[in-house]
Amino acid sequence: MLALFKMISRQIIKTMEAYCVKCKAKREMVDAKEVDMKGKGGVKRKAMKGKCPKCGTTMFRIMGKA
Ligand SMILES: [Zn+2]
Repeated sequence: MLALFKMISRQIIKTMEAYCVKCKAKREMVDAKEVDMKGKGGVKRKAMKGKCPKCGTTMFRIMGKA
């Protein structure tokens, strides 16, 4: 049971929707990785960086204040 739950939660983390500017649609990011972005005043922000599965455009999703 625990192993199954771990598998499911991992899938949820991997599935990350972001807006693709090329497709003009929301897509599930491929190769989503957590990255640090520098915001205003040197504030670090967590963001997810990935690729659009259709056109390969780099997509970002800002996770908000970390
Ligand atoms: Zn796209």
